[in-house]
Amino acid sequence: MYILFEGIDTSGKSTQISLLANKIPKAIITKEPGGTDVGIKLRNILLNGELYSSKAQMYLFLADRAEHTNKVVKPNQDRVILSDRGFVSGMAYALANGEYDIEFLYRLNSDVMDGILPTHIIFFEISKEVIIDRLSTKDQDAIESRGIDYLLSVQKEIESVVNFIESKGVKVLKLNGSLSIEKLHTKICKFVGVDR
Ligand code: ADP
Repeated sequence: MYILFEGIDTSGKSTQISLLANKIPKAIITKEPGGTDVGIKLRNILLNGELYSSKAQMYLFLADRAEHTNKVVKPNQDRVILSDRGFVSGMAYALANGEYDIEFLYRLNSDVMDGILPTHIIFFEISKEVIIDRLSTKDQDAIESRGIDYLLSVQKEIESVVNFIESKGVKVLKLNGSLSIEKLHTKICKFVGVDR
């Protein structure tokens, strides 16, 4: 089982990954970007705003994803993998930047993932008010600091990518991220077939 947690920053992904990981002690916990040694270096470049070109940014995310696929996903296909973000975010940011269409992005991403899709995607959606409230207590990285409207446009694109991937047979759970932490955890356990 390869479960991708998707949603913009502060939507509640890492909170729910920790809760689910407690129920699946042998799960592999990972993230994109930054799920490998090289990925940590790429993540620093990506999130501290060093890149001027959004195209360079997208291809660096893809490089991270290729490394992550080969070092983390492929060797652990018999295990439960819980990943904080992945190709859905990668495609959504590129769509929000307005440079590519979804089919082309899907081909690029399938290539670096060697065709391995997650089995489950959990998408957390939050309102503008909740974003403002949660961001106020957090240091913002280069991508987040482009503003609330940009984050909302990324969230909208995450939803379109999730719908697109659902049509490819991946199981999808869409959640209202402003529900209580406990309620969300219960829904997630049910979705992935783990006892609450
Ligand atoms: P992400 O990993 O998506 O960036 P986090 O899990 O780190 O999000 O959550 C961001 C902040 O919101 C944290 O302070 C967390 O405690 C809080 N939070 C997460 N889920 C909820 C929720 N369902 N209700 C209220 N606050 C939440």
